[in-house]
Amino acid sequence: MTLLLSTKMNFVTPPPQDSDNGLYALRFKNSFLDELPADPLEENYCRQVKCACYTRVKPKPMEKPRMLAFSSETAQLIGLSEDQCLSQEFAEIFTGNALLPGMDPHAMCYGGHQFGNWAGQLGDGRAINLGDVINEKGERWALQLKGAGPTPYARGADGLAVLRSSIREFLCSEAMHHLGVPTTRALCVNLTGEEVLRDMFYNGNSLMEPGAVVCRVAPSFLRFGSFQILTAQQDIDLLRRLVDFTLKHFYPELGPPGKESYLAWFRVICQRTAKMIADWMRVGFVHGVMNTDNMSILGLTIDYGPYGWLEDYDPDWTPNTTDAGGRRYRYSHQPQIAHWNLWQLANAIQPLFKNTQGLEEVLNEFPVFYQDHWSRMMASKLGFSEFRMEPDQMLWDELLVLFSEVETDMTMFFRLLSRISNTFSEDSDPLEILGKAFYRPDDIRPEQQEKFQQWIIKYQERLAEDGMDPEQQVESMNLANPKYVLRNYMAQIAIDQATEGDPSLIKEMLELLRRPYDEQPEQEKYFALRPEWARHRPGCSMLSCSS
Ligand code: AMP
Ligand code: MG
Repeated sequence: MTLLLSTKMNFVTPPPQDSDNGLYALRFKNSFLDELPADPLEENYCRQVKCACYTRVKPKPMEKPRMLAFSSETAQLIGLSEDQCLSQEFAEIFTGNALLPGMDPHAMCYGGHQFGNWAGQLGDGRAINLGDVINEKGERWALQLKGAGPTPYARGADGLAVLRSSIREFLCSEAMHHLGVPTTRALCVNLTGEEVLRDMFYNGNSLMEPGAVVCRVAPSFLRFGSFQILTAQQDIDLLRRLVDFTLKHFYPELGPPGKESYLAWFRVICQRTAKMIADWMRVGFVHGVMNTDNMSILGLTIDYGPYGWLEDYDPDWTPNTTDAGGRRYRYSHQPQIAHWNLWQLANAIQPLFKNTQGLEEVLNEFPVFYQDHWSRMMASKLGFSEFRMEPDQMLWDELLVLFSEVETDMTMFFRLLSRISNTFSEDSDPLEILGKAFYRPDDIRPEQQEKFQQWIIKYQERLAEDGMDPEQQVESMNLANPKYVLRNYMAQIAIDQATEGDPSLIKEMLELLRRPYDEQPEQEKYFALRPEWARHRPGCSMLSCSS
């Protein structure tokens, strides 16, 4: 069997003559293409696409594909072994130079609200879907290359991606999965062997950077914007077809298409989105660009761009310098933005209903869904068996005031909290234990210290009242409070080394973040405050949309 060439092949080493490589055993069923209309044009030039959900487009051939890192768990999901991932064919295929039988590359059409304004057609400008693998269990996994060349949706941009943003997307997708946060996955990150011009901070300093491609994996990459664009084009027949397709393949439990199942579907999307955001808040994740084109219809975290992790607990923080003015997508604003985005989705699907009453009622339930997840999540972070509205909200609010006065590392603080829970012994000072999470311990004034001590006393009293078995309590706290997250500087040092030709830190991070809730004594160096050099370093604390 031979590979189907995209247009040009660039094997670094010759491919096996008659390969029995299991890559060929991958089985594809591209229902999105089979059941929904294609753009009739296949020429690759920028345009407005109507009456279609996607355009067939070939990836751009790349000079010298080389696999940098892969996720064995994601490979397993689609039925690939480690050996197969190590083959040169794998690098060629997942950089877009070669296609397997059954692959049918295409870019999806969608629109979106960017920073609160309707932006019209966006679409996969540099993402190319290869097709849906059906694995042994019958699960559907769509494969998508990001940075594989321009598509008709590229709006004049180059369709490429650079190494730094590709490593960030690869690592964070997998880290989020292991943290238990709903997310798209990443199969691999490959170098293209080509350079890409980028002005990282949009300040006139353009540089050539190594190009890369990430292969993302998810049941579907449909977004809120996939539905919005059809309503904006007043193509309600196609809107209905796309909704019916989504229900049939991804929400079969909701029954046959109709007003009832449409409303039930919207309700489930609201619930899943609420759960996803509560998880982000739990682990300290800031998405950075919550535009409606970056909101998955399956409630998955999608499109890792200028995201970041809270280091010192600052509710107003956003890593995205492009959003520095309004801070629309700051940490504490994420639940409200999710609600706003769901409102836009409701507007998009509203033509399928006689009136807006049902949608409005569901939309009004979102804060309840979120509050429900949030309070359960907060109770587990603090080690309580349940969240008691009055006292616990007060305890939480008081803690936030302390965080605003004393710069405190979020991940470390919550992880250390289990050490001062019921197992607390008389001869250890709880503030000394928690103090490891303070960035400037020497600057803490005596009255601030006193306030922290008061808070600890109240907290321990509340724990004693709760009466949970101490061992169980520590265990459940440690499952809510990760020991290791992808701190902003960690991704950056992996990028710096990989740029110098050594990808070993990507593997080290991947391995570490595979078990974020476990103690990993040999990796204690990552359970530490952000190093001072990373406080203001670009890439560590500030990022732009340039990727
Ligand atoms: P994002 O901010 O990454 O969600 O991207 C917003 C839109 O811009 C999407 O339609 C992307 O496909 C598109 N886009 C971003 N970067 C590029 C690029 N380098 N080439 C083509 N399209 C891009
Ligand atoms: Mg996007």
